[in-house]
Amino acid sequence: MSSMVARGGIDLGGTKIQAIVADGRWNVLGQSRRPTPTEEGPDQVAEQMAEALREAALQAGVRPSALAGVGVGSPGDVNETTGAVSQARNLPDWEGTFQLGEWLTKSLGAPTLVSNDVRVATEAESRLGAGRHYKSLLGVFWGTGVGGGLILNGEPWLGRGAAGEIGHMVVKRDGARCTCGRRGCLEAYAGRAAMEIKARSEHQAGKHTDLFKIMKKRGRDRLTSGIWSRALKAKDPLAEKLIDRAVAALGTGIASAVNLLDVEAVIIGGGLGCRLGEPYVKRIREAMSPHLFNDEHPPALHVAGLGDLGGAIGAALMSATRDKAPRARARVRGSRPKAKAASADRPGGPDAQPDG
Ligand SMILES: [Zn+2]
Repeated sequence: MSSMVARGGIDLGGTKIQAIVADGRWNVLGQSRRPTPTEEGPDQVAEQMAEALREAALQAGVRPSALAGVGVGSPGDVNETTGAVSQARNLPDWEGTFQLGEWLTKSLGAPTLVSNDVRVATEAESRLGAGRHYKSLLGVFWGTGVGGGLILNGEPWLGRGAAGEIGHMVVKRDGARCTCGRRGCLEAYAGRAAMEIKARSEHQAGKHTDLFKIMKKRGRDRLTSGIWSRALKAKDPLAEKLIDRAVAALGTGIASAVNLLDVEAVIIGGGLGCRLGEPYVKRIREAMSPHLFNDEHPPALHVAGLGDLGGAIGAALMSATRDKAPRARARVRGSRPKAKAASADRPGGPDAQPDG
């Protein structure tokens, strides 16, 4: 493998930072994961991202500066041109703007591009993962929040830039308070952050649960997907109750989106989605059923095929796709498009091996 085509990808989540290094066929050669810092601000988060990428590169046997590019999938408002990230509310002390792309480019010595986390994960599922056989799909990323991404007729649908916010579909009017400040959003019932707040208040009100006991035993300060999963296996009553509530909300919200868009497939990813997997996707399918208008032809429902590496693989994929975009545009503007230029862009590119 030539290090010339190796690329890095970093998925910046509310709970964890996942970094990978992949070859030109998107095989993962190295990976590293670490918790997202909970206290210090963007500088410290960026430092941990760079460390994770260095670890993944070491495993892959590639120097970070030899990578053809690094992609980052980030929450918050991302300026794709400058690589600046603003208002990443699930991250510590990140209300303002931080030049994440610039910071990482300097620190790693490889050109780093930043995009929206859900967008890159949806495109990765669409091109390489569980969505690769469909032309239209909805990606639902069930984790700290509930993110959504859309592919319509093979193209990402971004609306005016903010499309896909399935987490803020209203599943109950005047319902539970959401982290966005509104009421009754899907995320207020199914987002892990909201579920944790609810679990804490129910626990304090005297409801029995082992969720926090498991959390302490595992040395964590948050209810991670693994903790929820463990509590469910032990039939913890509060965990079961809150997950049932989340599944019902997901069924309602996803079915409503499908009624509007009639996509061929729904891909369930995210930390909780991947961890709980097929049995819970089956339950979401059942919860959707009563709300589907076209109930004789429900869309296919799948667990994300790239698992929880999907966000990081998608970020690496994005860095390759965007690398090519300026050249592609230059050809369109130029007076004499050359046939061979188009094929020269292909080898090793994301289009070349959809099943890689
Ligand atoms: Zn909301």
